[in-house]
Formats: sequence, structure tokens, C-alpha cells
Amino acid sequence: MVAVFEFSSGAMENFRLIVYRESHMLYSDLKSTDKRKQINTIVVAHEVAHQWFGNLITMGWGTHLWLNKGFATWISYMVTNILFPEWQIWTQFLQLSADGLSLNALQQSHLIKVEVDDAHGIDQILDDISYKKGSAVIRMLQGYLGNDIVQLTQGKGSRTSNGNSSSLKEKDQEQCDETLWVKVNVEQSGFYRVIYDDELAARLRKAVVKNYLSATDKLGMYYMLVKDCPL
Ligand SMILES: [Zn+2]
Repeated sequence: MVAVFEFSSGAMENFRLIVYRESHMLYSDLKSTDKRKQINTIVVAHEVAHQWFGNLITMGWGTHLWLNKGFATWISYMVTNILFPEWQIWTQFLQLSADGLSLNALQQSHLIKVEVDDAHGIDQILDDISYKKGSAVIRMLQGYLGNDIVQLTQGKGSRTSNGNSSSLKEKDQEQCDETLWVKVNVEQSGFYRVIYDDELAARLRKAVVKNYLSATDKLGMYYMLVKDCPL
């Protein structure tokens, strides 16, 4: 790994020679901020991940470029979370995921898979959709396939009769007291938005105030429930 003065990109994952802008690699306990330490950890993890995802193995053609960029981005957060669990870095991934949802809502948005005719076209499709939407979709797959992650949590430690939030029946709702709540998309691992009805939204706000939700889930509720939120 080499730090280069005024390197134009943040970093470049050449095989066996990763080049960084100085600020993205060098760190001083005395002079650098904690934020810089976090950024550099994510950047280094991203570029090292590219030695595998992109260099040793890669997609057949640029059409699936999102797999290269999305995997390196997703795994950089996973590695950072293992190295520094106290940072709760997945809460920051949520900003990236929310950006991906915003981009996805634009008329000019496109699929993460983009047909490319020749090598020159690859540069044209390399945008934030590849990184942000791509990594958020992989994060969703991790949430879906992971062993310990479930898609539903519920207040008071109890569950609906069938354990499925989307099929919470009317009868169940009538029996619920007002402190019972359901949070869909646990840990915001899914790349989708949830619309809660007013009553459930009000209960969720109370659950947030009482600190029943994790930091990631609270941030997710912020994006979903804050009125006129641009996201
Ligand atoms: Zn990359």
C-alpha cells in the first residue's frame, strides 16, 4: 500500500499495489480525528477487498459491475464492524443506503445491472447506484440469508401468532394494547421503505422515545417517520 501526494482519486485497487491519497491512508493518533480513522479504515478495507472482489475474481463483463463495487463497499463495513464494533458502523451504512433509495427514486435512476457494449461504456455506468444501491442490495441479501437476523421484532418481547409482520391480522390488532409495536425491516438491512399506518407509527414513536429500538432501527424510523423528510 502506497500513499501518494495529491493522488486524484481516494484510492485505486491495482493488483498488489494499492495507491491512496495521503489523507485516505495516513493516520496520526495525535493529529487525526476519529472520523478520519473511520474513513481510512473503511477505505483500506474496501481496497483490500478489491484484491479479491475485482482482481482475483471478477464478473464476466461490465454489465455486472455493481457486484465488484457493491461487494467491496458492503464488505468494507462488515470488516470495520468486526475490527471496531464500538463504532456501530452499520448505523453509518444507513446513510449510504438512504442515499441509494433517494437515487433510486429519481426518474433517471437505473437498474444496478446495466448493459455495456464496450469497455468505454463502463466508465459511464460507474455511478453511486453501483456503489450505494449495489451494496445496500447485498446488505439486504445478508439480512435475508444470515443466520441470526430476523425480519421482525416486537415490543414486550412477544410475537404475533404467525410471526410475520405483514400478515398481522385485524383481530390481533384489536387485542393489542397500545404499548405493543412492530418494527419491520430489523436493523434496516432491507433496501425498501415501509409505510406504517398512523396508529402503529405513533406506537413506534413511543418505542423510540423509550429507547426500545437499536440505534440503527431508530435511524431507520427517523428516515421513515419524520414528516417531509426528503428521503
Ligand atoms: Zn471500489
